[in-house]
Amino acid sequence: CGIFGYVGMESAGPIVYRGLETLEYRGYDSAGIALREDGSDTLSVAKRAGEVSALSVPDESASTCAIGHTRWSTHGPPTDANAHPHTDCADSVAVVHNGIVENHEELAEELADHTFTSETDTEVIPHLLEAAFDENASEEPLDGSTSRTDGGSATDGVSSRVATELRRGVESVTDRLEGSYAVAAVHTGADCIVATRQESPLVVGHGEDASYLASDVPALVEHTREVTYLEDGDIAVLQAGEVSIYRDGERVEPTRSTIDWDAD
Ligand code: GLU
Repeated sequence: CGIFGYVGMESAGPIVYRGLETLEYRGYDSAGIALREDGSDTLSVAKRAGEVSALSVPDESASTCAIGHTRWSTHGPPTDANAHPHTDCADSVAVVHNGIVENHEELAEELADHTFTSETDTEVIPHLLEAAFDENASEEPLDGSTSRTDGGSATDGVSSRVATELRRGVESVTDRLEGSYAVAAVHTGADCIVATRQESPLVVGHGEDASYLASDVPALVEHTREVTYLEDGDIAVLQAGEVSIYRDGERVEPTRSTIDWDAD
């Protein structure tokens, strides 16, 4: 029932863990975090049924980019396996989701060669993203050699190419989802979080050297008062201190608001 994300210069695990604690008031039955380990091409996932305090986030993690989730189960009981984040078969992408994917059974049918490890409606999302990446990889190599005109910058190399692929993947996959959702995804190959929403709240927080994502403003106020409320269908790409928003395939300026909030 809650999402929190961080990408910046600091250790992401404790920040996301704290973010999940501040979202506890929304009610939940399970919690989890996916950390993108800097420079090692791996994701560390900790998730379980029960309270946020029961989660053990690896201290040795070298991650500055992570997403977390508190789950209020709708499809599949509150078990460790059904807790979010959910990953693809290759463990290269991790996804958290609030809401319901109404057409998940139909979508799962076209993923017959993928092994599912949960009973959730959510798990189709990472598998569809994996399929989208595989399709792109067979069409063009991910070596930064192809020129792009829509935001993938050749000078930033592979990470930026993967960020672009992830953004396009999230856009095409969520286009196919029926229902309500707030979704955030990370990929081993890019130092960013890609997020989108449809009839489910999601707010971006703008920090100096960091960007934040939360399903609700109270989780952001200890970090920043500068926020952007995502609109339905917006795709946000969060990087350390920089947020890009895409609407109908075009990049738009984030509409910033300043939260007037008395934290005491
Ligand atoms: N429908 C998803 C599930 O049951 C997400 C529920 C939520 O919003 O936390 O896992």
